[in-house]
Amino acid sequence: MKKVAFYTLGCKLNFSETSTIGRQFEEKGYLKVDFQENPDIFIINTCSVTENADKKCKKIVKEAKKISPDSYVAIIGCYAQLKPTEISEIEGVDAVLGAAEKFRLIELLDGFAKVQETKVLASEITEATAFNNAFSINDRTRTFLKVQDGCNYGCAFCTIPLARGKSRSNTIESVLASAREIADTKVKEIVLTGVNIGDFGIVDGKRNERFADLVFALEEVEGIDRFRISSIEPNLLTNEIIEFASRSKRFVPHFHIPLQSGSNTILRKMGRRYLRELYVDRVSKIKTLMPQACIGVDVIVGFPGETDELFLETYNFLNELDISYLHVFTYSERANTRAVEMDGIVPLKKRNERSKMLRILSEKKRRKFYEENLGNTFTVLFEEDVEDGKIHGFTENYIRVAAKYDPMLVNELKLVTLDKINEAGNVEVREPEMVYEKHF
Ligand code: SF4
Repeated sequence: MKKVAFYTLGCKLNFSETSTIGRQFEEKGYLKVDFQENPDIFIINTCSVTENADKKCKKIVKEAKKISPDSYVAIIGCYAQLKPTEISEIEGVDAVLGAAEKFRLIELLDGFAKVQETKVLASEITEATAFNNAFSINDRTRTFLKVQDGCNYGCAFCTIPLARGKSRSNTIESVLASAREIADTKVKEIVLTGVNIGDFGIVDGKRNERFADLVFALEEVEGIDRFRISSIEPNLLTNEIIEFASRSKRFVPHFHIPLQSGSNTILRKMGRRYLRELYVDRVSKIKTLMPQACIGVDVIVGFPGETDELFLETYNFLNELDISYLHVFTYSERANTRAVEMDGIVPLKKRNERSKMLRILSEKKRRKFYEENLGNTFTVLFEEDVEDGKIHGFTENYIRVAAKYDPMLVNELKLVTLDKINEAGNVEVREPEMVYEKHF
């Protein structure tokens, strides 16, 4: 039995795809093992957004060859689609597969027999038109279920459309079937993932269905306690979806909404499809209906043309907004994007300073959000995340909670009252109240 190991860089989508490819291998009789267990084959799923993707990829390949010098190494993922030739030149790489090929790698790589030349099987991204269903399973308490792939938006800084292709989706019927399959494995939480999830519904280039209808349909799936929407563009997060979430028993009050900049000048330069006023409106709609909702925000600092003044606009905008945390990205130039041609390059030092300022702001926001919720009762899904005698989990509104370790708690939903914030910045629960199980 040949042994295969996987390494995933990047986002939830990549995790769901690695997991699915892993199941394909198991179905064909391969044994899935950990990276350290002398695999015969390594599959490395790369990301183009990750800083220093090339260096990371090289390092993982080197590590793989140290563990199993005669192993077969295949590279897939966004970086493989964008830079196949560059990757094929990394010592130790046997094959590079693009977006249209990665789900057929067992068939394409011919028994993983090593040949002299590195195989490069990466078609043009326009060929990646099929939607490949994917979800992670048995890897975590929660599952990442891919419902949509690719993007038609073309924001000035983004390489994802070049790495993943045009927007395309699963059908509602097929997503429901996957959700039921996941429910049978006793996973309690599904995170719906996609590149531009709100654009769900395009099949074979035609819009057939709507994301809101997918949400309504999933609510009826028995056996899944929680659904989380990974990230959704503000212009696609409609009142209909927000209002539904506020009444839902299963969709949690947690929204991750990319903002990218709090300056309308920069938003226009980025080619985003909204202005900051719309963002304020989305946040206020959510908070009016769900005052305890958690709102996470993606923001990019150092985009070309972001003067000190415009950055301050973003800073002040975020400071005043009722949000819970930020994911801060420092702008970095990516080949073949419109942004690399733009004037007003922000020096690296400045980009890093701005990033630091926003990270501090994020901590302040998170702490305030946690403090506001102390004394309230929530349901926590405990994970196999144990440190210093404490087990951790997340509430429905994404507060990271710590409780005294008890192995019986793993993958269990418990009602808890939030007590205090500990030194690690997590919220401790009031013991021993934590005895009730939540049943829907
Ligand atoms: S919406 Fe913009 S940032 Fe998001 S994937 Fe599409 S092009 Fe990239």
